[in-house]
Order: sequence, then structure tokens, then C-alpha cells
Amino acid sequence: MGIYSQIKEQVSTREVAEHYGYKVSRNGMMRCPFHDDRNPSMKVDKNFICFGCQEKGDVIRFASKLFGLPAYEAAGKLIEDMGLLVDLENRPDAKPGIRQKAKRKRQDDVGFQQTLDRVYNVYCDYFHLLNEWADVYAPRAPNEDLHPLFVEAMHQRDYVEYLLDLLLFGSKEDKAQVIIEKGKGVIELEKRIREFKSGDRERTSRNDGSALPAEVGGGSEGASGSDGKRTGQEHGIKRGNDPVL
Ligand SMILES: [Zn+2]
Repeated sequence: MGIYSQIKEQVSTREVAEHYGYKVSRNGMMRCPFHDDRNPSMKVDKNFICFGCQEKGDVIRFASKLFGLPAYEAAGKLIEDMGLLVDLENRPDAKPGIRQKAKRKRQDDVGFQQTLDRVYNVYCDYFHLLNEWADVYAPRAPNEDLHPLFVEAMHQRDYVEYLLDLLLFGSKEDKAQVIIEKGKGVIELEKRIREFKSGDRERTSRNDGSALPAEVGGGSEGASGSDGKRTGQEHGIKRGNDPVL
């Protein structure tokens, strides 16, 4: 995958705008930096479009216009500023300086990067599953028993999103910390997600006891929860409460 695609996959224009200090309203509007904009007339999400000056494009174009840089330099700046993980090898059109630097870094800690990617992907998949469960298993009636997967989604979503933030934008120490603390749990979570993906939904959803995965519950060492207890449901899994972080 090309460098631009990798960047676009990892970061939205909105995140970049906010990173550089632009105030974005809840519905994604901000004052356009490309014309004299009194009222927010630029919509930012994955891409951007200004209803005032008609400027529009993707995150690369946004950064390129914002800093007056050619696209490949804007890409390099985004990688650095946003702490993105981009594979620059086999990219003859990437700037040699960037490629060299990335290569040195890769040689330094290629193992770390691989682990980081793996952990990130697992939590990303998990996050998507949680969002799906929050929707699919939402109670349809007020007195309906809550589905365990819905409960899990409610309990875990914010926390997993927080982990993803750390893994993407945290310092190297933050990332290492997550990897070290979550290492074993990630492998079990990976296995569980694989089961879900392979259509083994019934088995897993029936498995009430482990529906709240101890593996992300902080400090329970990935116990499978086979004792039927919802380990971690009430403690340590909310943002900021995790003893691990
Ligand atoms: Zn504009």
C-alpha cells in the first residue's frame, strides 16, 4: 500500500486539524484556514470540504495546503507529527531522507513495530466488534435482559478506544507499556476475535462467563473466566481506572 493510502487510513483530516490546534465543532465544522472565514464553513471528517471557498481534498492535501508543502513533504510531516506507522520500504517515490530515517528506525526496533501492529490490529478488530454488538444486541424493550455482548460493548468501548489512542498517538513508552501489560491478553483476544470472524458467533455469545474478556480486564492474566464470573466487569476496565495504565 502506498504511503499516502497508509496515512489516510490511519488519520482523518479532522484529527489532523485538531492536532494543529483548530477547533472543530461536534458536527465537524471549523473555520476554513484557506480563506478569510468568520463562521465555520469547512466540514472536516476523513476528508475536508469548504462551503465558502470550495477547497476540498484528503488529509494529505489539507496538510499540504496548510503548510505550503508539496504532497510528499506534507506526508512526511504528518508521519512525524502524528506518530504514524508507515511502511516506507519499496516506495521509490518516497523521499530518500524519510526512507532512510524510517529504515534506521525499523532496524532499531523492527520487532517492536511488528508487535505494535499486531496489538493495534487486534484492538482495532475488537473495537469494531464492540460497536457492532452495541448496535446488534441493544435491548429492544426497557425490561429486556441485557445481552452479555451488549454489556461488554458498553463496558469496554471507551477503554478500548483509549488503548487505540495510546497505541497510535502515545509516546513510545506508552505503547511499550500497553504491549507489555496486555501481551498475553492480546493473544487470547486475537483468538476470540478469530472465532467470531469465522462465524462461531453462537458459541462465543452463549459463553456467558467469558463474554466479558478477562484478558482486557487488567491484571487478571487472561483467565478465561470459565468459572462463570464476569471478571473485570466492575473494576479496572474503565478509562483511567485501569491499574495498568
Ligand atoms: Zn474555505
